[in-house]
Amino acid sequence: MILNTWNKITLICGNHGDDCTHQMQIKQYENDKRDTVFYSCPEYKSIYGSNHDGRSCNNRLSIKDYEHMMEKISELVDDGAKIIDIEGVKWTDRGIDYKVIKDDGKGYTVSVLNRKAMAK
Ligand SMILES: [Zn+2]
Repeated sequence: MILNTWNKITLICGNHGDDCTHQMQIKQYENDKRDTVFYSCPEYKSIYGSNHDGRSCNNRLSIKDYEHMMEKISELVDDGAKIIDIEGVKWTDRGIDYKVIKDDGKGYTVSVLNRKAMAK
C-alpha cells in the first residue's frame, strides 16, 4: 500500500530538546541547481549568513531523505491488514534520527535530527 500522506506529515526539528515548536520549513537555494529544495529548521542559518538573530540550527532534511522517511512510515503503519498506530516509534536512517511524536489517525508529527548536518 502506498500512503497518500504528503500533506499529512508535520516535521519538527529534533534539535531543541522537549521544545517541539520548531516546525521544519521548505527552503530553497537560489544558486544551486542540483539540490535546490530541502526542509530545514526555522533557525537554520547556513544560507542566511549572520542574519539569524544570534540563533542557529543546522538541522535539515533533503527531499531524498524525506522520500525515504515516507517509505519507512508506509512500511511501519501497514501490516498488510490494518493501519498501525506508530506514535512513539523511533528509527535511524542514513544518519538521521526520526521519532513519531504524534499519530492522531489523520496525520503524523515527526521529529527529525540530521546528525550529519549537525556535525558540520
Ligand atoms: Zn532546529
